[in-house]
Amino acid sequence: MRQIIIIGSGPAGYTAAIYAARANLSPLLIASAVEAGGELMKTTEVENYPGFAEGIQGPELMMAMQAQAERFGTEIVLDDVVKLELEGEVKRVTLGNGDVHEALTVVFATGSAYRKLGLEDEERMSGHGVSWCATCDGFFFRQKTIAVVGGGDSAMEEATFLTKFADKVIVIHRKDTLRASKTMQDRAFANPKIEFLWNKEVAHIYGDELVTGIGVVDTVDGTETTIDLDGLFIAIGADPRTHLVHGQLDLTSEGTVAVDGRSSRTNIPGVFAAGDVIDPTYRQAVTAAGSGTVAALDAEHYLAALPQELLARAASQPATV
Ligand code: NDP
Repeated sequence: MRQIIIIGSGPAGYTAAIYAARANLSPLLIASAVEAGGELMKTTEVENYPGFAEGIQGPELMMAMQAQAERFGTEIVLDDVVKLELEGEVKRVTLGNGDVHEALTVVFATGSAYRKLGLEDEERMSGHGVSWCATCDGFFFRQKTIAVVGGGDSAMEEATFLTKFADKVIVIHRKDTLRASKTMQDRAFANPKIEFLWNKEVAHIYGDELVTGIGVVDTVDGTETTIDLDGLFIAIGADPRTHLVHGQLDLTSEGTVAVDGRSSRTNIPGVFAAGDVIDPTYRQAVTAAGSGTVAALDAEHYLAALPQELLARAASQPATV
């Protein structure tokens, strides 16, 4: 049995691990089978993480966080959690490979998952012209025409990045004003390869093997038009990843895990939550990192108040049951 298991490998998870490891709690961090490092692994330049005056590449930042967590003794497992049993003094975490780990505390930092448009052909065409990750797939669209759906910072960032490859990038937004920050808007408006299509929603994706076009509906007058293009990038935000804790942890009306005030304490003693999974508002790498710190400190205080015999069991038993 462990003192602490951290689920998630974004800024919240790694920062919680750095703090927990430096507090001699020998954390185990479950980092996901396919996506270790979280959403920043799919970003390019991160310009707003303090300490990097010239900016830093998202994957580089995450690898540095991982190395820092490991340096102090964090053990990292690349697998998905498939089941969580959180009630009671001893929490059980089951992985995709069948291993079951026990711990006295759990930090839940699973982040958020990209939103889908909900179109019939969206899944079918995923990887065949439909994508949620410009950094991963932009390369395949050299000299092509592509569209980016969304009006937030993600959409502006994706559109701007994609102009490195594509001849033309059409931003399709369902309103006539953007939600993105002024800086990101200005950068996109100033880019000659980016065009804006306002008040439009994507209603169809066309193509057999590869995307050949889309049908868009005007949100004001309902008229539908077809646009020929080679790729569709969807950047319409993300939802907190809470499916593992449904029925166990209380959620807010926004779908995030509910925590007690400014702490990371959930409704179950010994279970703490951090990062995007508790944050419907700010969702920044640096706020997630701060939130991971809070969770590690809360877990440390909780452990300090537990009976000595329980802590001794955590120190003496094998890691996997
Ligand atoms: P947001 O929630 O900010 O924006 C989502 C956008 O997608 C909105 O414009 C929304 O439209 C639109 N949208 C949502 N659902 C649909 C739908 N079904 N069909 C069509 N359009 C839809 O998400 P982001 O991912 O852009 O940003 C999330 C957070 O991450 C923000 O806090 C942002 O600041 C931050 N971020 C920061 C970056 C940076 O600083 N480098 C980079 C990327 C993100 P509507 O406006 O009508 O609601």
